[in-house]
Amino acid sequence: MSLNFRLPAAAALSMALFAGAAGAAETAASFTLPPLPYAANALEPAIDAQTMTLHHDKHHQAYVDNLNGKIKDFPALQGAKIETVMAQVSKYDAAVRNNGGGHYNHSLFWTIMAPVDKGGKPGAALQKRIAQDFKSQDEMVKQFSEMAGKNFGSGWTWLIVKPDGKLAITNTPNQDNPLMDVVQEKGTPILALDTWEHAYYLKYQNKRPEYVKAFWSVVNWNEVTKRYDQAAK
Ligand code: MN
Repeated sequence: MSLNFRLPAAAALSMALFAGAAGAAETAASFTLPPLPYAANALEPAIDAQTMTLHHDKHHQAYVDNLNGKIKDFPALQGAKIETVMAQVSKYDAAVRNNGGGHYNHSLFWTIMAPVDKGGKPGAALQKRIAQDFKSQDEMVKQFSEMAGKNFGSGWTWLIVKPDGKLAITNTPNQDNPLMDVVQEKGTPILALDTWEHAYYLKYQNKRPEYVKAFWSVVNWNEVTKRYDQAAK
């Protein structure tokens, strides 16, 4: 009799332990650092391997860790899509805004770059839209570069698809982005440039315009086109 009584109890206990362990693992992994889609030195000479390694492995990892650290304060973060968190970021605190933005922005940034001569060119629909909104790709690049040059302090420069379907170039401070419900000019980002000094200072020091110029040699137009086609649907 006692044996029959004990077995289910032991089974229940082991199941509870298992559920607890699984729950803890899920919490720790709610937001994860995506691997770089290329080797750390693959974007040289535009972006040096040391900058890329520190930027991805240390800076981006810290945003992910800090964001995961906020789950205890905001259980709604558990399992949430980062894009959804961004669209409702006013519901959270400054740490979620900064670290959630840092996670979203860098995750996008890695994908819209590719090794020199591997990024392709804008697809047909994107080319047409660029011509309509900026006259030419050269003119869009010029305006984007000027915006990046004058983004005072730390921030990001974006090419976005606005709700009306038109393209726009916009700056955000800190780790804000155009998905956030707290920013003025909203849209779907399809191209982004990190203008924080940590993104370029080791190689370019104070010469941000040289970093911005080099960035165009490693833009992954295939990915930008994919994101445009999805946003414009
Ligand atoms: Mn950065």
